[in-house]
Amino acid sequence: MHYTKNKLLIDRINVDRIIRKFGSPTYCYSYNKLKENILKFKKNFIKINPLICFAVKSNNNKTILNEIARLGVGADVVSKGELMAALKSKINPKKIVFSGVGKTYDEINFAVKKKILLINAESKSEIETILQVAKKINKTIDIGIRLNPNVDANTIKEITTGKNSNKFGLSEKEVINLINYYKTSKYLNIRCLSVHIGSQITSHIPYLKMLKTVQKIIDKSNFNFKYIDLGGGMGINYGQNSKELNYKKYSDKINKFVKKNKVNIIFEPGRSIVGNVGYLLTKIIYIKKTSKINFIIVDAGMNDLMRPALYKAYHRIIPTKKNKRKVSKRHDFVGPICETTDKFLSLNSYQKLDEGDNIVICDVGAYGKVLSSNYNLRVGANEVLIKNSKVFRIRKKERLESII
Ligand SMILES: *Cc1c(COP(=O)(O)O)cnc(C)c1O
Repeated sequence: MHYTKNKLLIDRINVDRIIRKFGSPTYCYSYNKLKENILKFKKNFIKINPLICFAVKSNNNKTILNEIARLGVGADVVSKGELMAALKSKINPKKIVFSGVGKTYDEINFAVKKKILLINAESKSEIETILQVAKKINKTIDIGIRLNPNVDANTIKEITTGKNSNKFGLSEKEVINLINYYKTSKYLNIRCLSVHIGSQITSHIPYLKMLKTVQKIIDKSNFNFKYIDLGGGMGINYGQNSKELNYKKYSDKINKFVKKNKVNIIFEPGRSIVGNVGYLLTKIIYIKKTSKINFIIVDAGMNDLMRPALYKAYHRIIPTKKNKRKVSKRHDFVGPICETTDKFLSLNSYQKLDEGDNIVICDVGAYGKVLSSNYNLRVGANEVLIKNSKVFRIRKKERLESII
């Protein structure tokens, strides 16, 4: 993304032209960035040679999933719908793991029929349901058990998952009990110990603590896991502070861990693969000036991008036409939704803007479109992909008639 003659380009395509052609608001993704992120991720863990299972919940666009599949990556799914989307996008079932605390009998049955790699169970009741499915079809099912290591990921509290006050996974003690209880089962094959402590993690310290607990379980249970699934959660730089995860320190530790335990590593990254791949393009409908604030009212709302309202998440906003006329007044970038939290960003100054100008909300490829809704009975945004210097529409927004 850069400016040429003060006009914003993404992968050398003029952003205003994309909006003219595909309308506004539009989610726009960069294939180049997606590929770069996947190659970088692989490089960061090159010595470990992990199975990378992309967390589909962060972005479930079929074309994006298909591009991910072509780059050799698998999927981490959390519902039957996501599993169907992954399979339709040609992700290899032997590279798919199924996570989540509330998998139903029907979902487990479907996953087993599709011969996916692993079902990562999160409770004894769930394991019992998997057992019922196995008995019904008289087959052995490969499972993982998800550990809750009681580690604080030091991230936004709404997206931490590895503390014992969170609903996810099982405690050390429970995991060991369940291994002992089910390890002789004729119908269940415990293959994996899984863990995922949260999202947007920018320090390696929680990860090292998590690894320590995983090691403890391996030692105490004296059980040979084929896979250790370390989840995702790697944070990205949204441009607010420059804290970034030290991949080297994390991967060095995993390296030693792998050598010692002779296991295969699985990762489930979402945000770090697609976060900075996506942009939300939106048009300024009105500028409403009060004595203290200029409200920049755009045609994207919290129904299109929920993260600022949901987690107070920070997303950079940049104009598609740059100028040097600075306006030193508070600017609130807001949507049309009838909610005060329908606000993307508040800044103390900004360049001069006019009604009809376009702006770009950055780094929305993960947990952007997937969290959108029809609140206020609004249709969603189109999705487009820039690949090989061309722009393709990769999901059409709904028709208003079909959601009424
Ligand atoms: C959400 C989730 C992920 C992905 O998290 P990111 O922060 O997007 O990398 C991975 N594994 C599980 C089990 C999840 O719930």
